[in-house]
Amino acid sequence: MNVTIYTHPDCLNHRPGPQPDFAPARLLAVETALRRLPYPHLQWRTAQPATPANLLAIHTQKHIDAILQPIAPGTTRHYPPDTDATAGTASAIRAAAGLALQAVADVVSGKHQSAFCLCSPGGHHAEVEMASGFCFVNHVALAAVYAQQMGMKRVAVVDIDVHHGNGTQAMFWNYPERLFISLHESASPTGHTHETGCAENILNIPLPPRTGGGKYIEILKHTVLEKLHAFAPDMLFVSAGLDAHQSDPLGNLFLATDDYKTIGSILASAAMTLCNGRLVSILEGGYNLSTLGNAAAAYITGIIEAQS
Ligand SMILES: [Zn+2]
Repeated sequence: MNVTIYTHPDCLNHRPGPQPDFAPARLLAVETALRRLPYPHLQWRTAQPATPANLLAIHTQKHIDAILQPIAPGTTRHYPPDTDATAGTASAIRAAAGLALQAVADVVSGKHQSAFCLCSPGGHHAEVEMASGFCFVNHVALAAVYAQQMGMKRVAVVDIDVHHGNGTQAMFWNYPERLFISLHESASPTGHTHETGCAENILNIPLPPRTGGGKYIEILKHTVLEKLHAFAPDMLFVSAGLDAHQSDPLGNLFLATDDYKTIGSILASAAMTLCNGRLVSILEGGYNLSTLGNAAAAYITGIIEAQS
C-alpha cells in the first residue's frame, strides 16, 4: 500500500519543559528514520495549519481560545495535571491539526491511499474541553469526524499507544457510527473493559505489564480484527503511539521494533479489505529517542508491504 507522510515545520515549535528540546527531538527522530526508508515512492507533503473554526468540530470555543492564546516567550502555561504549553505551542497545535485534516481530504478524495501524520503535540488524551496528557487537540478524533463530514459514514480508530486514549473514547462514546478500539497497559486510569460506549462502539483491551509482541499480535489478529469486521468501517484511523515498545520509559509493555511492522501490516490489510485502503495513522506517544524512529519506520514498512 502506498503511504504519504505529512509533516509541518511548525510542529517543531512545541517545546515544553523540563527538557525543551525533547518534543522536537522526538519528531526529528521519526522523520530521520522515515527519510532513510528505501522506498522511492514514499511521498512527503505538508498542509495549511488548521483554523480555530476547524477545531470546533470536536472542541468548544472556550477550549480553543484557551489553548491558542498567546504565551510570552520564555514562560510556560500549565494545564493541570500534566500538560505544559510554551510560546510556540499554539502554532504547533494548528500545524498538527492541519496535517490530520489534509490527510483525510487526500485519502477520502483518492489522491493518496494511506497517510501517516507526524503530529506534535500528541492528541488522543485531549477531551472536548480539556488539555491532558501532553495533548491539546484530539487529532485522530478531528480527522475521523472530518471524514464523516466528507461522506465516510462509519469510522474506526485503533489506538496502539501504551496509554488509553481517553479523549478519543469520550468523543466517540455517544456516536454509534464511530468505533474506538484501544490496546493499552492496564495501569491506565481509564480504558476498562466495562467501558463500552452507547452501542458497544468502544472496545478496551487493557494488557498486563510486560505483555510482549506475541500476545499483542494474537489479540490484534483475532479480537481487534473481529470487531473491525463486524463494524465494517468506511475508513480506518490509527492512533500510532509507539510507547508500547519495550524500551519506552513511560510504559511497561514489551513490543519489539519488528512487532510494529506486523502491526502496520495487519492494520493496513484490514483497511484494504474493509475500507478500500483508506487508512490514516497519526503519531501519538513514544519517548525513547534511540528506538522511536526505528519503530515508526517498521510500522510504515508494514503498511507498505501489506497484502489485502
Ligand atoms: Zn502514550
